[in-house]
Amino acid sequence: MVPGDTGLLLRLQTEVLEAVACGEPLVAVADLLCRRAEALAPEAVCTILSVDAEGLLHPLAAPSLPLAYSSAIDNQPIGPRGGSCGTAAFRNEPVIVTDIGSDPLWQDYRALAEPLGLRACWSSPICDRDGRVVATFAFYYRTCRGPDAMESSIVQTCVHLCAIAIAHERTRQHNHRLAYFDVLTGLPNRGHFNELLDRFISMDEPFGLLLADIDHLKLINDTVGHTFGDMLIRTVAARIAECHPSLTACRLGGDEFAVLVADCGSDDDLEDVATRMLMAVRGLIRVGDQTVDPHITVGGALFGPDGIDGAALSQNADFALYHAKETRRGGYVRFVPGLRTSMLERANMVRAVDQAMTEKRIVAHYQPIVRLDTAEIVGLEALARMRMPDGRIAAAGEFHAAMADPRIAWQLTGQMLTQIAGDIRHWLDLGIDFQHVGVNVTTGDFQRGDLEARIVETFERAGVPLRHILLEVNEAVYVGGNDQMVPHAVSALRQRGLLVALDDFGTGFASLTHLLSFPVDIIKIDRSFTARLGSDGASDVVVGSIIDIARKLDMKLVAECIETPEQAQILSELGCVMGQGYLYARPGSAGDTTRLLSLFAQKSNASAAARRTA
Ligand code: GH3
Ligand code: MG
Repeated sequence: MVPGDTGLLLRLQTEVLEAVACGEPLVAVADLLCRRAEALAPEAVCTILSVDAEGLLHPLAAPSLPLAYSSAIDNQPIGPRGGSCGTAAFRNEPVIVTDIGSDPLWQDYRALAEPLGLRACWSSPICDRDGRVVATFAFYYRTCRGPDAMESSIVQTCVHLCAIAIAHERTRQHNHRLAYFDVLTGLPNRGHFNELLDRFISMDEPFGLLLADIDHLKLINDTVGHTFGDMLIRTVAARIAECHPSLTACRLGGDEFAVLVADCGSDDDLEDVATRMLMAVRGLIRVGDQTVDPHITVGGALFGPDGIDGAALSQNADFALYHAKETRRGGYVRFVPGLRTSMLERANMVRAVDQAMTEKRIVAHYQPIVRLDTAEIVGLEALARMRMPDGRIAAAGEFHAAMADPRIAWQLTGQMLTQIAGDIRHWLDLGIDFQHVGVNVTTGDFQRGDLEARIVETFERAGVPLRHILLEVNEAVYVGGNDQMVPHAVSALRQRGLLVALDDFGTGFASLTHLLSFPVDIIKIDRSFTARLGSDGASDVVVGSIIDIARKLDMKLVAECIETPEQAQILSELGCVMGQGYLYARPGSAGDTTRLLSLFAQKSNASAAARRTA
C-alpha cells in the first residue's frame, strides 16, 4: 500500500469513529462506512448485513444497491450455501467467490445478483468479543475477480470499525434497557412510565391510569422467602401485562405497578380493565410444596375528570389505591374528589397521633364495668385518650380515623398495653379487687402476628397474671378478612389464659356458627341495642335472644352504653348481669379509677372471707 492510501484509510477510520462517538445510529454509521469504502475502492459495491441470534441475515447498509436487493436478503438464514455472506457467517471465515455465475455457494441467490451485474463477491465475518458472528462485510465486483492488496486493507479496517460500531450499539441498547426497563419483570420502569404518561397526556385523548399493589408481599417474603417473593412479582407482572390488549403495564418499584389504559373515557371502561386485572393475577403459584394465591388491590383515575397533568392524575390514582387498601383490599376503587380531602385529613391525624405517641401524650383512661344488681365494679375497659398540646383530653372518636393506619394502631396498642400493665400492677399492689381490664385491639395488631408475644412479654415484665386481661375484639375485626387469621389468633390467646370479648356484637356479621367454631368468653352487646331498649319491642327481643344464646354457649354478657335506670332495669329483667355506661361512671384517668375502685370494687370471696374473720 502506498503512503497516500494509508492516509485515506486513516481519514475513513477517524470519520467513522467520530460518528460512533457522537452517537450516530448504527445504520447511519454502516452507511457511512460503505460509502467511504466504495470511494476508496471504486470497483467495489459494499454491503453490511447483521446476523441475529437465530442466525438470520438483516441488511444494515447497501447504499449502491437497489432497496429490492436488501429486502430480498432480509431474514435469509445463514448456511453452507448461503451465497458469500450467509456462508461466511456460517463458517465464521472470509468467503471469496470469483464467479457468482458458476459457484455452487450462489446457487440459491444467483438470480438476485446477476440482473444487477454483480459477478463476484468477497464477504468477511464480523465477530463480537465472544467470537460470535454478528455481521458480514462484503465487496461485490462487476467482473469475475478477487480482491487486490489495497482492497484487502480497506476491508480489514472496515471489519474492525464495524465490530466497534456494533459493540457500541449493543452497549447503548443495554444501557437503554437498564435505564428504561425493570430488570426483574422486564416491564417499563418508573422513569419510562413518566415518559409514557407525558406522551399519553400530550395526545389529548381519553385514557385511564390504574395503580396496583400486591397484597401482603412482606408477609409472603417473611414466610415463604424472598426468592418466592421475586417470583410472585414476576408472575403478577406478566399476568397484568397480558390481561387486556389496550393496557401498558409498568413496574413503579417494590410491588407497585402502573397501568396506562388507552381509549378509556368512562368509569365503566376503567372498572372493566381493573376487574380483569384483579381476576388475571389470581391463580396458585407453586414452588416446591409452597403455594400462594396472589391478590392485588387497584386504585384508578381518569385523564380529564381526575387530573389533566401527570402529577395530579398519579396522585389521585394513588389516593384511590390507598383508600382501596384500607376499605376494599383485593378490590378496586376509583378516585372521587372527596377522597382527597378525607385522605389529607387522615394523613394530618396520623401525624398528630404519631407525634402524641413520641411525646407520650397517649394516656389510658378506664370505664368501670359493673354488676347491674349491685353496681359493684367487676372490671374496667381501657380507652385510649390523647392529651392535646393545650392540655385538653381528646376522646378516641377525635383520632379514630388514624387507627386505620396499621402501623399507628400497632404502636398505640403497644403504648396502651404498657400503661395498662403498670396500672393493673399498681391496683394489685393496693390490694384492690377486680376481675379484668379490657384492651381494645385492631386488625393492625393481628396482621403482624405478634400480638400474643407482645401481650405476654408486657404483662410478664409488669408481673401481672394474664387472667386480668380481657382482649376486646371488634366484631368486624373478628369476622373480617378472607382467612380465619383473627379467630385462630383469638383461640391461641384464650389457651394462654387470656379472656376475650367480642365487642359491638350485633353490628356486623358474626354469626352463631362463628361463635360455635371460635368461642369467646364475653359478648358485649352494642350500644345501638341498649339505646333502643324500652322504646321498641324488637330491640328487647333481640337483646333477650342474645342473652339466651350467650347463656347456652356459656359466655358472659356485658351491655354497653347504659345511660338510664330504665335501660338497666330491662337488661336485668332480660337476664343480663353486667354493663357499663354513663349511668354508672364515665371513663376516667388511672388516678380517678383508683379512687372509684377502692370504693366500689366488688370484693372477691377470698377478701370478703378475710374481712369476716377480722
Ligand atoms: P400491603 O398488603 O398493604 O400492600 O402490604 P405489603 O406487605 O405488600 O407491603 P407494601 O406493599 O407496603 O410494601 C411492599 C413490600 O414488598 C416491601 C418489601 O418487603 C417487598 N418488596 C419490595 N420490592 C421487592 C422485591 O423486589 N422482591 C421482593 N421479594 N419483595 C420486595
Ligand atoms: Mg403490597
